Amino acid sequence: MMTPDQLIRPEILALSAYHVPPASGMVKLDAMENPFPLPEVLREDLGRLAHDAALNRYPDPSGAALKEILRESMQVPAGADIMLGNGSDEIIQILAMGLARPGAVLLGVEPSFVMYRMIAAFAGMRYVGVPLKADFKLDLPLVLETIAREKPALTFIACPNNPTGNLFPKAAIDAILDASPGVVVVDEAYHAFAGSTFMGEIPARPNLLVMRTLSKIGLAALRLGFVAGASAWLSQFEKLRLPYNINSLTQALAAQVLGQPAVLDEQARAILDERSRVMAALAALPGFEPFPSDANFILFRVADGPAVFERIKARKVLIKNLNGAHPLLANCLRVTIGTREENVAFLAALGESLND
Ligand SMILES: *Cc1c(COP(=O)(O)O)cnc(C)c1O
Repeated sequence: MMTPDQLIRPEILALSAYHVPPASGMVKLDAMENPFPLPEVLREDLGRLAHDAALNRYPDPSGAALKEILRESMQVPAGADIMLGNGSDEIIQILAMGLARPGAVLLGVEPSFVMYRMIAAFAGMRYVGVPLKADFKLDLPLVLETIAREKPALTFIACPNNPTGNLFPKAAIDAILDASPGVVVVDEAYHAFAGSTFMGEIPARPNLLVMRTLSKIGLAALRLGFVAGASAWLSQFEKLRLPYNINSLTQALAAQVLGQPAVLDEQARAILDERSRVMAALAALPGFEPFPSDANFILFRVADGPAVFERIKARKVLIKNLNGAHPLLANCLRVTIGTREENVAFLAALGESLND
C-alpha cells in the first residue's frame, strides 16, 4: 500500500493547513469580524425565517432572490452578472479551477490575503507574488513588468489590502487592468470601511471581476460572498460552482438582513469611529508604528512584536501575529476593531504589557 507522502501532490504536502487559533474566553480581535450582534427585532425575524425554512428541500440552486437584493444593496451595475460563493474563498477557488490550464499563473502582491497563494496550489496554478514596497504601497513598475513576463491568467488585488489595511490608488489598478491579458479580480472584502470601489467600472472593463463578502460586515457565520462581472466569464465559472453551494438558511437570513441596510451601515460607521480612536491611541504609544487603515483592522509594528502578542494574549486578548508571515511584516501585529469595551481591553492589555 502507498503512503500519503507517495500519493498526495507534492505542492499539497508542502502546504501547512490554514490555522484558526482557539479563542474561547478571549477578547477576539484576530479575524476582522464585526463585533456587534444584530438588533433584537431583526433576530426575531431571523428566528421566524429559520422556523419556516423547508429544511427537507434542497435550496434554490441559483439564489435568484438573494442575488436581486445583493444587486441593489451592493450597487452592481446593470449588465453585470453575479455569481454566489460559500464565502469569497470559494469564489477564489472556482476562478482558479477554471483558469488552471497547465502552466497558468495566478499573480498577487505580497503581503496580501494568504488564500490566493494556497488556492493556487489547490488548483494547480503557478503562484507568482510581487512584493509591495516597505511602506506597503504598490510597486507599480514591478507589477507591470511581472505581468508582461508571466502573462497571468488570474490576478488578485485586495483593495483595501489584507493584512496591510491600505487602499491602492485607482490609477495603479487601472494600469494593471490595462496591462493584464487575463482576469483581474479586485477583492473588495473591506469595501464597507473604505468608500471606494471598482464596481462601477465593470461595464467598461471586460476582464474585471469585483468580489465582495458579507463576512467582514457582520455575517461571517453565513458564509456568503459574490463576484460581479461580465457574463462571458461568469457563465463559464458557473459550471464549476457546486449545486446548492449557498444553503437555504444563508439565502433567507442574508436576504432579510440586507433588506434593512441601515443596520449593517450603522454598525460599520461605529467601527470607523472606533478605528480612529484605536489609531490615535496606538500612534501615541512610544515605539508603536500603526499603518494607515481603510479597513476594520489596523496593522502596526512594534519592537519585538511576537513578545507583545504573547503578553497581551496572556491577558486574554487575541490579535494576529504576522511576524514571520512575510519578510515585510517583521514585528507586525494586526488588530481587528472591536466594540468600545473590547478596544479599551486591547489598549489596556497593550499598556500593561509594556511594563512586563
Ligand atoms: C476575509 C477575506 C476574504 C474571505 O472572506 P470569506 O469569509 O471567505 O468571504 C477574501 N478576501 C480578503 C482580502 C479577505 O480579507
